[in-house]
Amino acid sequence: MIKAKIISATAAEGQIRIYACIATQLCEDARATHQLSKGVTVAFGRFITGAALMAGMMKNEDEVLTLQMKGDGPVNTMTVTANPQVEVKGYVTHPDVEGFDTDKIGSLIGEGQLSVIKDIGLKEPYIGTSPIITGEIAEDLTYYYAMSEQIPTSIALGVQVSDAGRVTLAGGFVLQLMPFADERLVTQLEQLLAKSDSVIDIIESGNDAKGLILHLLKDFDPQFLGEKPLAYVCDCSHQKVSQALLAIGEKDLKELKEEEEVEVKCDFCNKTYTFSSDEIATLLDYALDKKIL
Ligand SMILES: [Zn+2]
Repeated sequence: MIKAKIISATAAEGQIRIYACIATQLCEDARATHQLSKGVTVAFGRFITGAALMAGMMKNEDEVLTLQMKGDGPVNTMTVTANPQVEVKGYVTHPDVEGFDTDKIGSLIGEGQLSVIKDIGLKEPYIGTSPIITGEIAEDLTYYYAMSEQIPTSIALGVQVSDAGRVTLAGGFVLQLMPFADERLVTQLEQLLAKSDSVIDIIESGNDAKGLILHLLKDFDPQFLGEKPLAYVCDCSHQKVSQALLAIGEKDLKELKEEEEVEVKCDFCNKTYTFSSDEIATLLDYALDKKIL
């Protein structure tokens, strides 16, 4: 199987920057991990593809990007975390919401807020927020860039699912204009993007990520910069989950200690970790000793 990649390029003598990927496997892995319904597969697939592209744009090797969309629709909250190596993972509050058309998924999310959290290892992470505009994801991320980062950005994301609910195609691109971009180019691009085929149509006609960029920007002399692999990866471990357990606080940990065995499920990959009451007691003693709680 071909490894999925994010391809980056510049065009129009550096005035345009673009990142594109095919994310079929990423979205199918997310669907299978969380047993997502068809509508949620499309919504979460677009969200996780958008997050992967944004992570692919990060320069700092220690940066961790978290995107969260919290709305009043039946899905409630979608969360995705990605690192610059484009290892992506996420979860949805209600993965099995049925009865939504895969062409129009905005009402699954409803009205609410998009948060973009960039943790670069400083004390306080950067948090940018913007309102959810349509819930169709690409528009919401585009609006975030315009509002919070003041960068003219065009994002397109597409996820196609089969009748059985599997992801058959997925991909997208993030296109940005540099601050020095010429006004005429802005108008030309707007017209081009307005009449462009959908991402799914472009991929379906046999294009990979490079082909997607060439299809969009063939008149603007695209220059390819590089590539990064992307995959659905959860790096949880017994150790990490035990650290996370400390967050529930002293009172709850003392209650858990009374149980014979405690099962903790990783939200990102659904793997279950089992802790004996002795382990909980050791953890509690350690935390009290180090004054973590
Ligand atoms: Zn996990």
